[in-house]
Amino acid sequence: MERDEMPCDVLFVGAGPANLAGAIHLMDLIEAHNAAIGSGEADGEVLDEPMIVVLEKGSGVGQHQLSGAVLDPIALDELIPDWRGRGCPVERFVEREEMVLLTPESAVPAPWIPPELDNHGKPIISLGRFCRWLGEIAEEKGVNVLSGFTGQELLWDGEAVVGVRTGDKGIGKDGQPKDQFEPGMDLQTPITILGEGPRGHLTRKLIQRRGLDRDSEPMIYYVGVKEVLEMPAGSVEDGWVMHSVGYPLDVHTFGGSFAYSMGGDKVCIGLLVGLDAADPQMDAHHLLQLLKMHPHVRSKLGAGKVIKYGAKAVTIGGWASVPQLSTDGAMIVGDSASFLNPLRIKGIHLSMKSGMLAAEAAFEAMLRGEATAQALSSYPQKVQDSWIVSDMEPGRNMHANFKDHFVSGMVQTALQYAFGPGPQKRYSPDYTHIERKASYQPAPWTTQEVPYDGVYLVDKLTDVYNSGTQHEEQQPAHLKIVDTEVCATTCREEYGNPCTRFCPAQVYNMRESEQSGRLEMEIDFANCVHCKTCDIRDPYQIITWMPPEAGEGPEYDLM
Ligand code: SF4
Repeated sequence: MERDEMPCDVLFVGAGPANLAGAIHLMDLIEAHNAAIGSGEADGEVLDEPMIVVLEKGSGVGQHQLSGAVLDPIALDELIPDWRGRGCPVERFVEREEMVLLTPESAVPAPWIPPELDNHGKPIISLGRFCRWLGEIAEEKGVNVLSGFTGQELLWDGEAVVGVRTGDKGIGKDGQPKDQFEPGMDLQTPITILGEGPRGHLTRKLIQRRGLDRDSEPMIYYVGVKEVLEMPAGSVEDGWVMHSVGYPLDVHTFGGSFAYSMGGDKVCIGLLVGLDAADPQMDAHHLLQLLKMHPHVRSKLGAGKVIKYGAKAVTIGGWASVPQLSTDGAMIVGDSASFLNPLRIKGIHLSMKSGMLAAEAAFEAMLRGEATAQALSSYPQKVQDSWIVSDMEPGRNMHANFKDHFVSGMVQTALQYAFGPGPQKRYSPDYTHIERKASYQPAPWTTQEVPYDGVYLVDKLTDVYNSGTQHEEQQPAHLKIVDTEVCATTCREEYGNPCTRFCPAQVYNMRESEQSGRLEMEIDFANCVHCKTCDIRDPYQIITWMPPEAGEGPEYDLM
C-alpha cells in the first residue's frame, strides 16, 4: 500500500501539557540559538526552518484532556514567565480550602491541611482550555500541530525508533477498506517524544519491546470520574476547593474526591478510585453518584445540574514507577512516564517539566545530528538534576501504604511525614489485587440503589451523552477481547464480569444470546471515553484498548 511520508526533525505524539510545553520550549531554544549565531555571539549552524510536529488523536487540541486541575505553576513560570498577561485561561484562583473525612452520615473537618494539599492562591484551570492555549502558542512559534491523527504504530530501524505511522481512516466493520478509505502516513523522524497520557498505546509497545521497565515498579493507576455542574446564578463561592477521603470508598479501596468552583456558576466534582480496588464490583461512576448523595456534598452542590462528564486513568505509582525514559530515537514524558506526585495528587507541572527537559535533550541531539540512546540519555540525567526529584520522591510509597487498609495507610503516611518515605516498597499490577466475588464482602452502602433524577443524579448512559463521545459505528471495535468465551464462563463465575461495572461508560454488557441462550459479552464501543480502565483492570488481561479512527472519542471542552 502506498503511504504518504512526512519527514520531521522532532515528533511529539500527544498534545497534552508535557508535549505542548516541550514543543514551545524547543522552539524557544532553536530561536535563541539562531539569534546567537546571527548576532555573532555563538558559532555553529543555524537550524533553518525546523520541522517540529505535534500529533493529536482528538479532533482538536484539548478535546481529550481531563484533570482535576488546580495547577502548580512552577513549570509554567519557567516556560512562559508572563503567562498572567498572555491570556492563560484561569477559571479562578484558590481562595478557601477545606478537607473532610466523610463517613456514611457525617463529615469530619480535618484539623489542618497537609502542606502537599495546600493550594491557596494557585490557579484552577480546565486542562482542555489550558492545552488549547498552549497549542495556539506552539503554532504561533511555528510548530505543526496535526489534530485528528492517531499514532497507530512505531516505525523501527532495527531497535531504533524512526517515527510513527498514523492510523488508516475508512476501514469497515469487516476490516475491509470502504470507499472513503485513506491510508495513514509515515512520519519519519530521528526523535520521537511520546506523551500520550496514562497507559499510552505506543508507549506500552516501546516499553515492552525495549524492556524499559525492568528496573522500575509496575505502573499503577486510579480511574478518575468527573462531572461539571451548572449551579443557580450567584450560588457558587469563588475560589472554593474541597478535598475528601473516606465515604463512598470502603477501607480496601484507595482514593479520594475533590470539588471546586469554576467560572460562570459552574462547579466540578470528581472521584479518584484505585484500580487495584479489591472489590470486584467496583464502579467509579456509581460511587460518584453516592458521593453526591452524601448530606455534606448535597448541601453544597444539590441544586446543581450535571452538564459535563468524563473519565480517565491517572498514574499514581509516582517516582518508583518511572521507567527508563529514553532509548534509541525515543523519549517518554508526562503521564506516560508516571510523572505524577501521588502525595499532592498533582502532575501537570511535572508533565510540563519532563516535556521541557526532553526538548532540551532533543535540541542537543539536533545540534549533534544524532539521536542514539546515549545521545538522548541526557534527558533522564536532566530529570535527575531537576526539582522533579524533590517533588516526587517524598510520595514514592504513598500508594503502597494504602494497599491493605485505609487506617493502616493513614498511620504509615503520617509516620512518613515525620520520618521520611523510608525504603521503596514493592507492589504488583493493579489487576492482581481484585478479589473473587465469592470471597469479597462489599461495604453495605456501595451496593445501594441511586434514585436517579436525570438532573443531579444521572445514570451512566446519560453521562456518556454528557461526555460528548462519538465513534463511527461502521468500523472494527477498538476494544479487543482475546477470548470472549472467558467472559461467558470463567470470568462470570469468578469475578461476576467486573468490566460491566468498572467501565465508566457502559461499554461492556452481558446480554442473552439468541443462539446459545446464555449471557454473552457485547461491546458497545461507541460509548468509550478512552479512559483505559479496562486495559488496566481486567483480571485476565485479555482486553486491549487500541486507538479508534482519528478524531473520535470524547469532546471535553470544559474538563
Ligand atoms: Fe474506559 Fe475501556 Fe470503558 Fe473505554 S471501554 S470507557 S477505555 S473502560
